[in-house]
Amino acid sequence: MSTIDDLPPLSAVVRQFDLAPKKSLGQNFLFDLNLTAKIARAAGDLTGQDVLEIGPGPGGLTRAMLASGARKVIAIERDPRCITALEQIAAHYPNRLTIIEGDALTFDPRPHFETPPKIIANLPYNVGTELLVGWLTTEWPPWWHSLTLMFQREVAERIVAAPGTKAYGRLSVLAGWRTEASILFDIPPEAFTPPPKVTSSVVSLIPRTAPGDVPLAALERITAAAFGQRRKMLRRSLAPLGGLDLLARAGIEQTKRAEEIDIDGFLNLARASESP
Ligand code: SAM
Repeated sequence: MSTIDDLPPLSAVVRQFDLAPKKSLGQNFLFDLNLTAKIARAAGDLTGQDVLEIGPGPGGLTRAMLASGARKVIAIERDPRCITALEQIAAHYPNRLTIIEGDALTFDPRPHFETPPKIIANLPYNVGTELLVGWLTTEWPPWWHSLTLMFQREVAERIVAAPGTKAYGRLSVLAGWRTEASILFDIPPEAFTPPPKVTSSVVSLIPRTAPGDVPLAALERITAAAFGQRRKMLRRSLAPLGGLDLLARAGIEQTKRAEEIDIDGFLNLARASESP
């Protein structure tokens, strides 16, 4: 029996259901229930809270969240092999765990929630950034309450990066505009089965009341062009989008490069590009 519930240890679950990890699905499993409990705690008090989990796998994080008092967990898993293992957990916590076999990139979980859920996940690395961008570019205020997500350390650094740093880019602007983003702690490769090549980090993103008058499509076009040629001055990289005229209307010096522009600067550029 495990430390947090009366279910079998995760290594036994993986053997019982023959869940040899698949690289193609980004499967690096966490077997240490103390560690999954730490990730669940990082999302704050879960008592009475609804949670969306992406990629529960054999269910380590799922069990930690249910043991921490989550009212309802909706878990979306693409690998059909994991579903029977997860059904054991659902039986242990009656009416609190709904398992959905599907692809989180296309499945819309919103109808499953009456109040905004906390999204908590050890994300599959191959689709983690795409899922995050989807959650950051949804309607605002968002349909979710907060994000507590595990990424490769390098991606986590890009999410929280400040202007003037190498990691600062499109993801930093999007995350910093709409959320308060911070790295909470790292998890070393050896904590996973199989161990990935790199360190992972748990990131917290809390939605902020973002300025509503920023055209999202324009912001994405501008940051793509600016960071796509980050060594060039903006008067060159933004030439197809208005160049000098656009910079003047946004009040930005023409000799600046993308990484010197703070988030407010990019918001001004997006507004200026849409104004007549
Ligand atoms: N939560 C488990 C843990 O912490 O041990 C597993 C995490 S593992 C890094 C990522 C999980 O996401 C795998 O179980 C994988 O099958 C699942 N997955 C991969 N792509 C997915 C997708 N597009 N939609 C839903 N689940 C996916």
